[in-house]
Amino acid sequence: MFPEKSTNLWVSFWESIAGIFYPNLCQICRAERATRPEGYVGIECRKKVKVIEPPFCETCGQHYFGEITQSFRCGNCSDQQIAYTSARSACIFAGPVMEAIHCYKYQRALWYEPFLSQLLLDAALPILSETSWDAIIPVPLFSTRQRGREFNQSERLARHLGRALGVPVLNKVLRRTRPTISQTKLDRTARKENMDGAFDLNQLPETPLVRVILVDDVFTTGATANACAIPLIKNGIQTVVVWTVARSEAR
Ligand SMILES: [Zn+2]
Ligand SMILES: [Zn+2]
Repeated sequence: MFPEKSTNLWVSFWESIAGIFYPNLCQICRAERATRPEGYVGIECRKKVKVIEPPFCETCGQHYFGEITQSFRCGNCSDQQIAYTSARSACIFAGPVMEAIHCYKYQRALWYEPFLSQLLLDAALPILSETSWDAIIPVPLFSTRQRGREFNQSERLARHLGRALGVPVLNKVLRRTRPTISQTKLDRTARKENMDGAFDLNQLPETPLVRVILVDDVFTTGATANACAIPLIKNGIQTVVVWTVARSEAR
């Protein structure tokens, strides 16, 4: 084994060799330097990330633009039955974050993962590390979709969070009961219908789960998060906190 310093030197050496084949270039703008540990997203593109800060709806995390000091529930949450305890996202689904998530998910651009997972960790760790958690549950893909894509982006992001928090990631607790159509062009009502009953309990560990973190890449209306939380709550889990990298504004 090399001492840690030497290992780092070796890593830097191989990174620079790899850089000959994979240039250290920001993959968003292709005009600035960015390295592999940065997820190939450079400083200028990172400045365009819109981090979500309070005030926001205490349930769904909908950002409120304006002066508000006390906790509040947005109109959408007041009108609906919501099974999850609360939902939070690291940043707005726009600009470099939107582009990175699209390429990561649909073109298997895994080099963006350090960028995306760090956004999630920066926002989630200060909040989640204050409490103890029994498990992290990624939103599952339908089996045929996962075989086609070869990976579940939510599970990969969940593993970064799990490592940082020291909480196990359980990817067999939930299963998707049927394929669902893409939500991107659906409005709020159609998204809910598309997701109703789309998830079921698959396998619970022997030790009962009480407090869990549900992880997904993007939160839009919360239809997916809610459809996942319903079977969890029905089966005795008391707290389901949802964390996503990004939040897209619902239509
Ligand atoms: Zn850039
Ligand atoms: Zn809300």
